[in-house]
Amino acid sequence: MFFDLHVHSRYSDGKYLPKDIIAYAKAKHIHVAITDHDTSLGLNTVKEEKVIPGQEVTTEYGHVVILCNFPPSPPNRIAELVDYAKENSCVVFPSHPFDIFRKGIGDKTFRYKFDLIEIYNSKAPKMANNKAKEASIRLNLPGVSNSDAHVIQAIGSAYNDLYEIIEFNLDDILDNLRRGKIRNIINGLSFRAKFSILQWYIERKIRNAQNSSRTMHQV
Ligand SMILES: [Zn+2]
Ligand SMILES: [Zn+2]
Repeated sequence: MFFDLHVHSRYSDGKYLPKDIIAYAKAKHIHVAITDHDTSLGLNTVKEEKVIPGQEVTTEYGHVVILCNFPPSPPNRIAELVDYAKENSCVVFPSHPFDIFRKGIGDKTFRYKFDLIEIYNSKAPKMANNKAKEASIRLNLPGVSNSDAHVIQAIGSAYNDLYEIIEFNLDDILDNLRRGKIRNIINGLSFRAKFSILQWYIERKIRNAQNSSRTMHQV
């Protein structure tokens, strides 16, 4: 079964609703983890769906993804986050760890007991992904490849084949991740995906500018 373990919805800085993301991914035979920045709110809207609950947590050193069998409310200090994951049978991995421009945790990857490492992130530069791959070898940790999609068109650019999973069961999925029963599937972003990402980037810039000018007027 195919899984993209790092996707953002409108509940953080993504463009689409969780249900639309799930429907789009389903048509591509991919299951997703909804991992919004520091919130599990979007997960409440898709309780009936086959979705992996998670968050991309902004820790003191940068971004770390947690995946659980329930919508998590994790702490944001990295040491506590790792403990929370262990206590609640979740898995944790640094996302785009060596992408320094997008809050990768860098060499802190070597300091904490992660379950996995994101060795490929569709939006990270090649160098950063290569470094993450080297780290996974050095630490002997399984690697995952994810889209980090903020627009649905990016889904399918990278995902994971958990080849021993035949039925959607969260505990089995998390267990197979931990045991590294993973085949990475890396396609890269299509032209259409790149265009949609750029479009969404511009839309957000305009919206942010409008919001800040509105705030200025209020002041
Ligand atoms: Zn991130
Ligand atoms: Zn992300």
